[in-house]
Amino acid sequence: MPLTGIEIFKLLPKTNCKECGVPTCLAFAMNLAAGKVELGACPYVSEEAKEQLQEASAPPIRQVTIGVGDTALKVGGETVMFRHEKRFENAPGLAILIKDSMEDSEVDARLERFKLEYERVGLTLRPELIAIKDESGDATKFEALVNKVKQNSDGGIILMSNNLDILAAGVKACADRKPLIYAATQDNLDGVAGLAKENSCPVAVKASGLEETADLTTKLSEAGVNDIVIDSGSRTVRQAFEDQVIIRSAALTKKFKPLGFPTITFPSEMTDDPMKEAVIASMFVAKYGGIIVLSDFQGESLFPLLVERLNIYTDPQRPLATTEGIYEIGGPDENSPVLITTNFSLTYFIVSGEIEGSRVPSYLLVMDTEGLSVMTAWAAGKFVADAIAPFVKKSGVMDKVKHNKLIIPGYAAAESGGLEEELPGSEILVGPRDGALIPAYLKAWKP
Ligand code: SF4
Repeated sequence: MPLTGIEIFKLLPKTNCKECGVPTCLAFAMNLAAGKVELGACPYVSEEAKEQLQEASAPPIRQVTIGVGDTALKVGGETVMFRHEKRFENAPGLAILIKDSMEDSEVDARLERFKLEYERVGLTLRPELIAIKDESGDATKFEALVNKVKQNSDGGIILMSNNLDILAAGVKACADRKPLIYAATQDNLDGVAGLAKENSCPVAVKASGLEETADLTTKLSEAGVNDIVIDSGSRTVRQAFEDQVIIRSAALTKKFKPLGFPTITFPSEMTDDPMKEAVIASMFVAKYGGIIVLSDFQGESLFPLLVERLNIYTDPQRPLATTEGIYEIGGPDENSPVLITTNFSLTYFIVSGEIEGSRVPSYLLVMDTEGLSVMTAWAAGKFVADAIAPFVKKSGVMDKVKHNKLIIPGYAAAESGGLEEELPGSEILVGPRDGALIPAYLKAWKP
């Protein structure tokens, strides 16, 4: 069971030295219990207390890292069944499958498709992993493919084979990239455990059912391998879905350690229909895949999966927000319109996109409303005349233009009178409610 704040407090130095960034050890203990800070933020915890606290504060599902450097992927580390309880921590990695039986041209095409990426709300969405599968039974061929992938991609690598020698050849080629070794089974567990330990790589277990999964993870842990990913072996949609829910629930609510690891799932092995495969993958994005291996990437299925993943793994308590400030769009001058909006990322990107599309150079003033959209911020009293006026004055945006007109969003129309009082000499114009109407509005605008 996790320790309470008071239990954690008893193990802290109680000097209230503030070096962890909060005023007291008690406040730090409370934050640690709530999972808001890392234990490492306090430099004075004794080794003995550290051991107890680390054990108690470790997430019930272990966090496992695949790869190195900026492109390393963290999976697992989850603490809740449902996103509304707190948040999901680490988004599942999406993997493209490349087999050593494929023609060179197909391998090249897949490596190219692995580079698919999309911009959305200021973020770059892209997949992370390449699963390299041995089908040839030829260690030299497998190693050559691993080398090719390594040279042509910065993605994390999953090495897939039942054969220990072939896995060893793959690890030899890319041990510095810390690949995920797939898979340890009842037949090769000792050998794979040795390979993983020698090269400090994470390992996936592949079982036939949950009992065998727990047995394999226990044996791996006893052999000193702790970075484990689990494949319960199910390849029907229903069974695989049930397994994901049972694994998450057993780890979180029953504190059953042998299932306290992230999972790897294979929509690629559940259907031959690309559309169905994407639908199955979307199920695992929601419930509770750690890694999702797809037979191929195509924009029409990859993009929706990336957006679904972004939406589910966004912290519901912290809306995506844009930095407050003046954004100059299209090279505005002293006769350009000035618009104001809130800093909810989606609002910002829609409004700025429409302004850009209008080809009317403009100033867009973005106000920090804690990531709330215009209507929500207005209803919450964060985007009202009393708050907007001092922000407009402080920003100095009206010093950049010769006119005195400020365009507010249509949804904040009720604030226009208040703003004219708070900003004497300004003319407050009410813009459209719908972002799509901004271009027509700006084209008709006169200073
Ligand atoms: Fe207490 Fe450690 Fe924070 Fe200092 S750094 S206040 S000792 S918890």
